[in-house]
Amino acid sequence: MYLESFRHLIEVEALKAQNQNELGLIAKENKRISDLERLRATKIQELETLEQNFGSLKLTEKQLEIETFNAKLKRMKSQMDLVTSQKEQQALEGQIALLEKELQVQEENYFLNLERSEEIEQEKEDHNQFIAGSLATINSIGSEVEITVKKHQERIHQNNLRIHSLFEQIDKSLAGIYQSIEKKFPPPLRAVAYLVDKKCSQCHMLQDSMLKLSLEEGRSIETCQTCGRLLIPETAKIY
Ligand SMILES: [Zn+2]
Repeated sequence: MYLESFRHLIEVEALKAQNQNELGLIAKENKRISDLERLRATKIQELETLEQNFGSLKLTEKQLEIETFNAKLKRMKSQMDLVTSQKEQQALEGQIALLEKELQVQEENYFLNLERSEEIEQEKEDHNQFIAGSLATINSIGSEVEITVKKHQERIHQNNLRIHSLFEQIDKSLAGIYQSIEKKFPPPLRAVAYLVDKKCSQCHMLQDSMLKLSLEEGRSIETCQTCGRLLIPETAKIY
């Protein structure tokens, strides 16, 4: 009396497995976008750091300092014409030499920072290109992903309609038992197992021989004595 219902259950299980697969495909589609968004967020953050690094080079300030030094040096050199004693001249020459040395250090420092700033500019440019390019990609694949996701959702919807109509044809007590066992085996676990060679196809434990006969003739509803799954007789596989 239960064989027909078991047949329907087999179909229900197959449809549920299909749904699981569809959900996996939806997740995979959405991941195309989320992966790119994550990468994009990282690049935006890195760009901020690059901006900060660029700012900390203080190029304009350093350039102004050098200009100030140069002006000071020029002024000192012009004072050379006004010195009256040799002692005064020596003192001024000493000051000039010191200033020139300091200026040299500052200029070297400035050029190093200038080089670094050019590298940062290049990195910023690369980042900006990625940020803009990835946005364009997200937009262009966005609608493609949306269409694909909808297609998978539609299949799930159709499967669920079929599952619903199958349940209306399944024996009520069998459906009730199946649904209560199902709660203990959330997807991707399976709530059902086949009785194959007196063994549960899921946990492989040997079942009672009396059970096998009545189950295969569709006279009883049985669960695996070990794992508790609903047992489906192999006889129900034959259409
Ligand atoms: Zn079992």
